[in-house]
Amino acid sequence: MGRPHALAIPFPAQGHVIPLMELSHCLADHGFKITFVNTDFIHERVMKALPDDSKNKNQIHLVSIPDGMGPEEDRNQLGKLFECVSRTMPSYLEELIEEVNESGKDKITCIIADEHMGLAVKVAKKLGIPQAAFWPTNACLRALIIRIPELIEAGVIDANGMTRKQEMIQLSSTLPVMDTTKLPWHCFDSPMVQQTIFHSLFTNNQAVKDADWLLCNSFYEIEPSAYPLNPNLLPIGPLLAGSRQRQLVGNFWQEDSTCLNWLNQQPACSVIYVSFGSFTVLEESQFHELALGLELTGHRFLWVVRPDLSAGQAATYPDGFQARVADRGKIVSWAPQQKVLAHPSIACFMTHCGWNSTMEGLSMGVPFLCWPYFADQFLNQSYISDVWKVGLRLNSDDNGIISREEVKNKVEEVLGDEKIRERALTLKEMADKSVSQGGSSTKNLNDFVEAMKGK
Ligand code: UDP
Repeated sequence: MGRPHALAIPFPAQGHVIPLMELSHCLADHGFKITFVNTDFIHERVMKALPDDSKNKNQIHLVSIPDGMGPEEDRNQLGKLFECVSRTMPSYLEELIEEVNESGKDKITCIIADEHMGLAVKVAKKLGIPQAAFWPTNACLRALIIRIPELIEAGVIDANGMTRKQEMIQLSSTLPVMDTTKLPWHCFDSPMVQQTIFHSLFTNNQAVKDADWLLCNSFYEIEPSAYPLNPNLLPIGPLLAGSRQRQLVGNFWQEDSTCLNWLNQQPACSVIYVSFGSFTVLEESQFHELALGLELTGHRFLWVVRPDLSAGQAATYPDGFQARVADRGKIVSWAPQQKVLAHPSIACFMTHCGWNSTMEGLSMGVPFLCWPYFADQFLNQSYISDVWKVGLRLNSDDNGIISREEVKNKVEEVLGDEKIRERALTLKEMADKSVSQGGSSTKNLNDFVEAMKGK
């Protein structure tokens, strides 16, 4: 039997590349050869963000194919991205696989595709290669997508996913309650984009439903009642790339590690870590209010201000803000987030509740302050604040703004709540256990590895 060779293909977005990269590292640790396929655009970003000394020194072979968009087109327009990717990538992917398989080196023995890339599962089936679909967020959302036909049948949504009946639904008594006017595909700007995302979610789910393996970046113990609703779905998370000594994480921006030295100089449990992931954009007025809120707390903070966080352009801070907080605030454009969250000086995590950030904060036992932006983040917020009770929501005022007073009050409340901290530490233990030897996620991953090695 030759060496197993997995081709991994993520959806081209930061929160999808990072966990699949970590899964790829895990498989490489188990002896797999890995070919990791990004779009040309993302490949260039990942290579540019990699430290120079690690460009040629990793166990994963990075390759790329076109995404069908022009060089200047905006990849943050997700509706368009979904359409272009599914139209363009199948033929390039097929060509790439054939090229590898005809090269005389290790043939591709399995394809691991992000579930949002159902196209890759179809290509794998056509070529007779075993397939695994990887779901990068919680199992509850996947259960909801499976139930789309029932929701349409019951008159809750129409055939385009738009709400017909406002009500609260719950797929099982221990899963988050969902408002049918705020389902994950509703949390995008325009109805057109909402509908494209809705159809993509369902079409991809159908395309992968009988894949050989269904994996997800969650773990059984945090959402046990979601698994009976997801036939054959195996949780293998939390997958944490940056906390181990991996050089290749798949970052789109260069990490600024100076914040780790800065954290070393702060007292234990004293710093608010503020980060909104890779997509969130804040209007300038909201950005200012947040800055003034952090100042008002009087606490130390580490704030990730991506170059395009403030209304998609370079941030301008309130007058004199940076000078006033210089002795207790650190601002970076991209942090080694998993290392930051694992640092003993971190007291709480103000987050947009992306699923990766949620898994990372939870794995490190850090209490959350929730500031969701779009997609599954409102559902993740419900998990954090209502189901697991390890964080609080930040609420907006009548003008739709999260005020500086709200920031200050919620920071005080979360830092003063011992119960939240205790529950966060309990969840951390559960997460550690699931990925340690004999844990539920490790067992699932090992089953997958053994099956793929045997092919
Ligand atoms: N991240 C990071 N440094 C930062 C901000 C984010 O490494 O300064 C990583 C974070 O650890 C997570 C990913 O980027 O793995 C963001 O994924 P998530 O699902 O949280 O949010 P998205 O970017 O998809 O909205």
